[in-house]
Amino acid sequence: MKLNLNDTFNRELPADTITENYVRQVPKAAFSYVTPKTPGNPSLIHYSPNMLEAVGLTEVDAKSEEFLNVFSGKEIYPETNPYAMAYAGHQFGNWAGQLGDGRAINLFEVNHKGEQWTLQLKGAGKTPYSRGADGLAVLRSSIREYLCSEAMFHLGVPTTRALSLVLTGDEVLRDMLYNGNAAYEKGAIVCRVAPSFIRFGNFQIFMVQQDLENLKKLTDYTIRHFYPHLGELSKETYVEFFRAVVERTLDLMIHWERVGFVHGVMNTDNLSILGLTIDYGPYGWLEDYDPNWTPNTTDAGQKRYRFGNQAAIGLWNLLQLGNALFPLIEDAAPLEEILDGYQTNYLPKHVRMMSDKLGLKTPAETDFIVELETLLYQSEMDLTLFFRNLSKFDENNPTEFWTLLQESSYSNNLENFREKWNIFLAVYAEILIAENREKSERIESMNRVNPKYVLRNYMAQLAIDAADEGDYSIVDELFNLLLKPYDEQPESEKWFAKRPDWAKTKVGCSMLSCSS
Ligand code: AMP
Ligand code: MG
Repeated sequence: MKLNLNDTFNRELPADTITENYVRQVPKAAFSYVTPKTPGNPSLIHYSPNMLEAVGLTEVDAKSEEFLNVFSGKEIYPETNPYAMAYAGHQFGNWAGQLGDGRAINLFEVNHKGEQWTLQLKGAGKTPYSRGADGLAVLRSSIREYLCSEAMFHLGVPTTRALSLVLTGDEVLRDMLYNGNAAYEKGAIVCRVAPSFIRFGNFQIFMVQQDLENLKKLTDYTIRHFYPHLGELSKETYVEFFRAVVERTLDLMIHWERVGFVHGVMNTDNLSILGLTIDYGPYGWLEDYDPNWTPNTTDAGQKRYRFGNQAAIGLWNLLQLGNALFPLIEDAAPLEEILDGYQTNYLPKHVRMMSDKLGLKTPAETDFIVELETLLYQSEMDLTLFFRNLSKFDENNPTEFWTLLQESSYSNNLENFREKWNIFLAVYAEILIAENREKSERIESMNRVNPKYVLRNYMAQLAIDAADEGDYSIVDELFNLLLKPYDEQPESEKWFAKRPDWAKTKVGCSMLSCSS
């Protein structure tokens, strides 16, 4: 296994001077050196051929003992210095102080074909940032992260990636629903990959420590490596950097709305400075269209991270990032103007995205989109099925679509909304007729933004239940299915269906917690 190593984070930024691995507050450092825990009996479950190639490895490498050893934490790749990052953050709206990589260990960075990647193990043991926890991850949540991060990439949503999924051979104690029913589960490790795992919280930690020098070092590092087009470093550049992060974050929120992804834990330590989806925990996929839905039981009370609130929370988090960068800029006005821009741009971007889903060239009227969203909600329409089926809509026969509406709805009284749908679809038909777009072109464009397959919550759970018994065939099946989420895959039609009844209230399908 030959990697083109190219470490930058642990070379260019300050290290914690203490190298012993015990839980502590870490001042004046961007990271602490740590060694992954030695796994008891590691075995490889799955790897991503795409990611393998991206980091410059081959299928032969993936089957080697060295691959298993390096990506299970058993062996440290020569001439590398694994480390855990320091960061802080707001959790559920409250300042939580130092957090950091409590169970993520960055192994090294590689550069392949001009692309920079950081490879990181999630679940490889304690670090100085583990607080009261064990630094480990269980198979259940590792499968969820592994499958979903690769699926998101193929959906065209910015995301961290996954290279491999291994079992450690060790057992991990978890109280899945925090209700006093702790049990042992299989330990697992995902090797996550991204250009960088820097989060808003990495900036916040230096701001609260009033460590201006390191705040500047981290910001300069981030711009130099990941926003190099911004050029020379100056106050203006920091403002432009903030603008770029704001734009990427807003685009990410719109993508999540487009595919029906609910992150579940949008704390500031879980927002990527590169605008990537990061930290797949109690996330979920919207099935019946409900803006109030959150999969995270830890958030069931205030539902801060519900589907319909994600864009607003994105803004809230950006405000915290703005506060963290303020000492470098010392002028609130440009930051406020950029945040105002997020608010003004949100609606047109949302309407543009929804219009794309409707196959419209010209953005629809906002009222029309609001009416659609109200109807989707009231009639408990499955987001994915509805929009994918919509490409079959015949503008010359709008009422015919009723059958497909029935097939896409979870409601017992859909009939109550029939009249409203007829009115809505008649207007939709008029718009389509007026646009007079080539039908095949319209269908093609719709099918590029309306996925046929997403990782429904119950699908991941089926893969987990089988994997718990040592059967990884569903993990493999879903992994392959989700490589082409926009393509018709007739042999996989069974995954293009409503959530089965049993999944509505099953733990893991609709109820998840941060325990992972
Ligand atoms: P999250 O919001 O789930 O991404 O995690 C919040 C913080 O808790 C981060 O600093 C994580 O590294 C840390 N954390 C979560 N689970 C564990 C664990 N099992 N062991 C150590 N730290 C953890
Ligand atoms: Mg996190």
